[in-house]
Amino acid sequence: MEKSEKIFIAGHRGLVGSALTRKLRADGFANLVTRDRPQLDLRNEAAVDRFFAKQKPALVIFAAAKVGGIKANNDLPVEFLLDNLQIQNNVIRAAHEVSVRKLLFLGSSCTYPKHAPQPIPEAALLTGPLEPTNEAYAIAKIAGIKLCQSYAREYGENFISAMPTNLYGPNDNFDLLSSHVLPALLRKAHEAKMKGDRELMVWGSGKPRREFMHVDDLAAACVFLLEKYDSAEIINIGCGEDISIRKLAELICEIVGFQGDLTWDTTMPDGTPRKLLDVSKLHDLGWHHTIGLREGIARTYEWFLRNAAPEISK
Ligand code: GDP
Repeated sequence: MEKSEKIFIAGHRGLVGSALTRKLRADGFANLVTRDRPQLDLRNEAAVDRFFAKQKPALVIFAAAKVGGIKANNDLPVEFLLDNLQIQNNVIRAAHEVSVRKLLFLGSSCTYPKHAPQPIPEAALLTGPLEPTNEAYAIAKIAGIKLCQSYAREYGENFISAMPTNLYGPNDNFDLLSSHVLPALLRKAHEAKMKGDRELMVWGSGKPRREFMHVDDLAAACVFLLEKYDSAEIINIGCGEDISIRKLAELICEIVGFQGDLTWDTTMPDGTPRKLLDVSKLHDLGWHHTIGLREGIARTYEWFLRNAAPEISK
């Protein structure tokens, strides 16, 4: 990858896109192209075509998506399916039309079947039914993977797809109804501590297990793959370790300094029982994560205190 190559980061304001922007800048990539939603709505096919025809990026990183936690995914299947299909169809097709050199599509670990073998190998894709709470999002992401693979097979495009595990870090969504578990619990623990509450409510049974990766590690893995990986076969990105939601909640309370008790809202869904990626393919290529969970959560809590907490308390 040349440092002067023009790179379009779709979704640069989000958790993943902002981490990629930071990483690429830090690595000396100076020709980054980004657009806010009001400047370019990626659901608008004509606008996306005009943008690509004018900008002609050499590389595209697809980090734009409608994302959310278990409740948002479960409540808004139409939006999760339609917005994601529109965004990815427009960007991937336009990238082909202007002959970009390479495209990285970011999928998700929820594309794998609900009862996939653990840790989940890449070969588990499309081998069984999906988890119902995020089926719409997963179907959209699977369509994106297949579109990239089809462009590779039919037109020889270098369109690669990576499957990140659950991510967290700066610029995450801390809205309690639409966020994922880690930012939600970080905020809940912080607010409970500030209010002097004695209890903190956690959704579900606490038994599901999830793998969490700091988004700065994900960004580093993506840059590694852009430089070293040229196959249409999907590749998992994770750290290879998981933790139960109960243990995660306890760890977050410890880091935040909330000393009350956990209570469980079992009317809320547990979702998939376990989601741990098999990352041997990535490890064999020579990439490993560097940020441990405790350190990553502590860093994210510092970010939250400086950036999100003041906004929330307004
Ligand atoms: P998932 O990985 O797609 O299931 O998405 P989430 O990150 O939203 O949820 C992961 C697990 O954490 C599920 O079992 C949730 O029920 C559980 N959980 C516990 N408390 C919370 C919370 O406050 N918010 C969210 N989003 N999930 C929670």
